[in-house]
Amino acid sequence: MWPNKFDYVRAGSVDEALSSITDDGKFLAGGHSLLPVMKLRLDAPEQLVDIGRIPELQGISANGGLTIGAAATHDAIASSADVQAMCSALASACGQVGDQGVRNFGTLGGNIAHADPASDPPTVLVACGATVNIQGADGARSVGAEDFFVDLFETALDDGELITSVSLPNCSDCQCAYVKFPHPASRYAIVGVAVCLKMDGGTCAQADVAVGGATVKAVKCAGAEAALAGTTLDDAALNAAAEAVKSDIADWLAGDIAYPESYRQQMAGVFLKRAVAAAQG
Ligand SMILES: Cc1cc2nc3c(=O)[nH]c(=O)nc-3n(C[C@H](O)[C@H](O)[C@H](O)COP(=O)(O)OP(=O)(O)OC[C@H]3O[C@@H](n4cnc5c(N)ncnc54)[C@H](O)[C@@H]3O)c2cc1C
Repeated sequence: MWPNKFDYVRAGSVDEALSSITDDGKFLAGGHSLLPVMKLRLDAPEQLVDIGRIPELQGISANGGLTIGAAATHDAIASSADVQAMCSALASACGQVGDQGVRNFGTLGGNIAHADPASDPPTVLVACGATVNIQGADGARSVGAEDFFVDLFETALDDGELITSVSLPNCSDCQCAYVKFPHPASRYAIVGVAVCLKMDGGTCAQADVAVGGATVKAVKCAGAEAALAGTTLDDAALNAAAEAVKSDIADWLAGDIAYPESYRQQMAGVFLKRAVAAAQG
């Protein structure tokens, strides 16, 4: 199907993008979610402002923590030595997005702005305490990832606001992992779990856990974190965390006829154990 007619503007800078966008306009990054939605006539913006080649939105810099430009592609993030060193779970999540063609075009900014519940990067961003940096006509602001994802396909972005980058703390002293149960056709996450474990000798001093795919948005899992922290990550702790994670996500469950809510909730516990095992190498 063809989308409705629209005007096309290619912005050369963030300022130009913000001053060009109209009330009925949308930013275009990799186009791998927006264009399918337009072809299905689920959305019909009258204007697209192409932000894919804006220099300020490119690149990944490591300076204490990570700053990833909104237009960085999944492939660039997955193959970045800095991301692999400072947040291996994010490199892993971006490396598991779709197929190589999707990873070559899809961007981190587009992925999180679209806020598909089955996306991979949001789960890691929530687990690892990332910050989303946003620019609007009235200035810049930053929002923690946990607050950025509000509900199904809903974020804290206001109309006309542009994500410029995502900041992450340096997690190189943690054991991190992202594991998912991919949909056999699309590769989107049916269940995805991210863990970031700070170990002190053989004891887990701090655990950060988030679940996506099974839920309408990426959810931080305080119950599972409490069950893992202060333990040696033995079987009893893992079983307790697997039970706790089901309660953590109970209010946010997503499902469909093939993979209903109850199934995804159960699988979240299974994949939490797998994520801890993967993090421990
Ligand atoms: C076949 C297929 C398989 C996929 N599999 C997966 C998967 O397994 N896991 C996964 O996580 N994702 C998957 N995706 C999604 C993909 O990873 C892209 O991240 C996603 O399509 C959005 O990124 P984009 O750059 O293409 O954004 P676009 O499609 O260009 O934009 C999406 C939305 O975000 C807005 N937007 C874009 N950039 C910004 C910005 N900087 N600031 C504010 N708003 C912005 C746009 O206006 C639009 O509303 C898949 C996509 C396809 C087509």
